Amino acid sequence: MNYKDYYAILGVPKSAAEKDIKSAYRKLARKWHPDANPENPKEAEEKFKELSEAYEVLGDPEKRKKYDMLGSDWQRAARQAEQQRQYRTRYGEGDFSFDFGNAGAAPGGPTGFSDFFDMFFSGIGRRQSAQQPGFAQRGQDLETTIELSLRDVYDGGKKAVSLQLEDLCPRCRGTGTDAGRLCPQCSGTGHVLVAKKFEVSIPKGIGDTQRIRLAGQGGAGMHGGPNGDLYLIVKLVDDATYKRKGDDLYVDLPVSVYDLVLGGEVKVPTMGGQVAMTIPEGTQNNRLLRLSGKGMPKVKGGGAGDQYVRLIGQLPQTLSDKERKLFKELAALRNGKKG
Ligand SMILES: [Zn+2]
Repeated sequence: MNYKDYYAILGVPKSAAEKDIKSAYRKLARKWHPDANPENPKEAEEKFKELSEAYEVLGDPEKRKKYDMLGSDWQRAARQAEQQRQYRTRYGEGDFSFDFGNAGAAPGGPTGFSDFFDMFFSGIGRRQSAQQPGFAQRGQDLETTIELSLRDVYDGGKKAVSLQLEDLCPRCRGTGTDAGRLCPQCSGTGHVLVAKKFEVSIPKGIGDTQRIRLAGQGGAGMHGGPNGDLYLIVKLVDDATYKRKGDDLYVDLPVSVYDLVLGGEVKVPTMGGQVAMTIPEGTQNNRLLRLSGKGMPKVKGGGAGDQYVRLIGQLPQTLSDKERKLFKELAALRNGKKG
């Protein structure tokens, strides 16, 4: 049995951070993937297996710690482990545990990795590490978009949503490999899409591209660590009636030419229901009138924005004989002639 220098295999220093080990592994695994090396498939497969084995150990905080502890004394540790293994084979599974193995492991269960790996690391499972809070790892934060209507954000409150989230692959725990091969569940990406249902509290007046945080709804924590958070980025769907600018709303309102010329009262839709609005006499076409406080609720509290109403004058397209006569009289009056 030969000692395996897993740090050398991944080309990282002994002090390498977890993320550097992961990225070194990813890079080399891509380079040596058998599919990417059709000219020398045997060599690539060997290399790939070696990389997977190295990452299986160094990518797992518990196994890495054990590996670091082996040091120059690894041969003595190997003899000890071998004795324990023989003892187990002879007398069956006891509920004892020994230095470098795991009582829950299948005795001598081959992994397809090296003897060195099998001796020290096969069968070191998640269940065991879950009892060691020192290795707790917080789950990753996840981010996705949530489409909301103007009504959703005006009313606020609870809304049931179903979202497709990218999460760590449960089979390979994000390593991308499974017993030395590309993980079949995630095809080696380390991530899978999971459909999840949530009841989301929508803050009144939240705007496009703003975020809603769902604490603890992100990626699953490992080894008893807390879950990450889930961030929902608001995508406000265009509304057929209202345009939103900040906390203000804009709406176009068709009105008759008589309302503009003579003034009057018209009904205007607002998000809070229909309201009456007074048009002053002699109002020009396309003028904006303001309805104070009828816009969107301010997300930080403290009232609401305004609603602006653009008056779009509608001219009569067909005239009766009498209307035509009266318009002519009006025109003559305006031009100072007698009708
Ligand atoms: Zn996987």
